[in-house]
Amino acid sequence: MSYDDDWYPPHLDGPEWVVPQPADCPNCPCHTARVCQGRLWHRAWPQHRGCPCEAAAVAADTPPATRTLTISLGGITRTVTAQAPAVGVGAGFLLTPRCFAASGGHLAASVVVPMVLAPAPETAPADQVTVDEHGTRWAIRLTASYGGAEVRIHGWHDA
Ligand SMILES: [Zn+2]
Ligand SMILES: [Zn+2]
Repeated sequence: MSYDDDWYPPHLDGPEWVVPQPADCPNCPCHTARVCQGRLWHRAWPQHRGCPCEAAAVAADTPPATRTLTISLGGITRTVTAQAPAVGVGAGFLLTPRCFAASGGHLAASVVVPMVLAPAPETAPADQVTVDEHGTRWAIRLTASYGGAEVRIHGWHDA
C-alpha cells in the first residue's frame, strides 16, 4: 500500500482551492462542483429543480421512520414512539426513547435505558408482543444493555 492510497483531496472550500472557472459537478447537469460539494443548492441561482445531488443529500438526511407502540409494564400502559432505522446498525429493529427503568446485579441503583424490539416470532406469547400502527408484531424485550452488561427492565422510568 503506497502513501498515495491515504491521500484525500483537501476540502474544496479551503483557501488553497483556487480555480479561474468554477468546475461543473460531475454528478449533475445543473450545478458547479462547489455548489454540490458545499450543499449550497438553496443559494444557487438560478434555482434548479430535480438536482440528483440535492435529492441524494435530502434522502441521506431523512431521519429514520418511527413506529408507535403501546407497551404495558408493571400494570401501566403507555404509548411510545420508537425509531425504526431503515439502514445501519439498528436496521430491522425498533429503538424506543430512554424511558425504562432497569436494574442489574452490578448496579447500586436503577438506570434508565431504551428498549430494543425485534420482530416477534409467531410463537411469542401475546403478553410479550406489541403491535405497531402498521400491524407489525414486535417482541417486548425486558433485557437491555447498560455499560456493557445486561440489565433487566422492570418498569417505566418515571412511574
Ligand atoms: Zn451536483
Ligand atoms: Zn445539481
